[in-house]
Amino acid sequence: MKLLIIEDEQALRENITNYFNGDGNICESCSCLTDAINKLSNYNYDCVLLDIGLPDGDGFAVLDYLKAQMKNEAVIIISARNSLDDKLKGLNIGADDYLTKPFHLAELKARVVAVYRRKTFNSNNKLLFNEISINLLGRTVEVNKAPVNLTRKEYDMLLYFIANKGKVISKNAIAEHLWGDEMDMHDNFDFIYTHIKNLRKKLLDVNANDYLKSIYGIGYKFNAE
Ligand code: CA
Repeated sequence: MKLLIIEDEQALRENITNYFNGDGNICESCSCLTDAINKLSNYNYDCVLLDIGLPDGDGFAVLDYLKAQMKNEAVIIISARNSLDDKLKGLNIGADDYLTKPFHLAELKARVVAVYRRKTFNSNNKLLFNEISINLLGRTVEVNKAPVNLTRKEYDMLLYFIANKGKVISKNAIAEHLWGDEMDMHDNFDFIYTHIKNLRKKLLDVNANDYLKSIYGIGYKFNAE
């Protein structure tokens, strides 16, 4: 999963970032409204963790921005304010959930996973795509009941492809989704090819159909037919 945490409290921001990164996600962070809008205009995220009280304005502006740009990020408000008004306002203008500080990181993670599942896979813990079965909680994959041993990146990649099945996905979008800011360090997208090649081989080894098609000069497509 790729997350953005918008939070001006440094210790909390770092805690959350480390927690999610340590769990195999990509978690980027910023501490003010300006940087947040900047990031959101350049990148896509699965989930945004949004503090309301920011030094240069109100976090609600992020919700307005996402709505105006018709962006699809799930948003969980994390705020010290516990007024019903704030909560209703946030949920009314597009937040998916609201968590009052202080909270346990495990609680935050459970909310993130729930919101992501609800938004992307209609709340199912098990995602089925023909002969491929994915357990979203255990992060395990089976093809016709045979387990497939995927690395984290391969697993995230498979999930990303299935969530976007039938669409042509650019290499840039894949890199951005799976590597976040890190991808700026690469000169080109050749590194993606290796991961895709390995994922494809592992699926073919257990007799899955060959869904992954390379679209010359653009990227890849996970064939839905
Ligand atoms: Ca704050």
